[in-house]
Amino acid sequence: MDVVQRKGEGCNMARHLESVCRLCRKEGLKLFLKGTRCTTDKCAIERRAYAPGQHGQKRTKNSEYATQLREKQKIKRLYGLFERQFRNYFRKAERMKGISGENLLLLLERRLDNMVYRLGFASSRSEARQLVNHGHFLVNGKRVDIPSYLVEIGDKVEIKERSRQIAPIAQSLAAVDRRGVPAWLEVDKNSFVGVIRAYPTREELTMPMQEQLVVELYSK
Ligand code: SF4
Repeated sequence: MDVVQRKGEGCNMARHLESVCRLCRKEGLKLFLKGTRCTTDKCAIERRAYAPGQHGQKRTKNSEYATQLREKQKIKRLYGLFERQFRNYFRKAERMKGISGENLLLLLERRLDNMVYRLGFASSRSEARQLVNHGHFLVNGKRVDIPSYLVEIGDKVEIKERSRQIAPIAQSLAAVDRRGVPAWLEVDKNSFVGVIRAYPTREELTMPMQEQLVVELYSK
């Protein structure tokens, strides 16, 4: 099993004392941390597209370091990881063949919790992580409850039979057609199965991410 972080990480991940919407406002970008709310006009970014706090509306010129740091924070928050976990992915990405920044994004995309979210079985990555932790999914017929499990091409992610009607999964499935599923994945809603057809290309990851800035930051 290819796992960067071991079981248990999901229990304490993505716990932020501040509202998660403040994180989006800080990064000036929708990070889609709140599920269905993110696509409604209740989204805090739609209402107040400036950083939170007293000086949030001031325009500031960032240093090179600050820009790299912000980009790292943004990507880390998007995938709901702590610093140590994120850095571990970067170290692993560096050891892989190819471009480190792209390797990093691919590793993050291959996480089981991310795939559950991408497949439309959960409405946010944090919800997906919780559902994986609670053992609601099978990978190639075997129960996997480790959010950081790295899926591979050809893997089948299936919702367990007794979990198919629980509210978050049923609601997410009902919204699959509206949300859409990325081209590198295939979902059969009737059999509750998703298949990883390919790894995403860099062009297919459309969130505005400048992973090269993370490489520069960690290479200092
Ligand atoms: Fe971010 Fe979602 Fe909150 Fe909007 S609703 S600010 S996208 S977490």
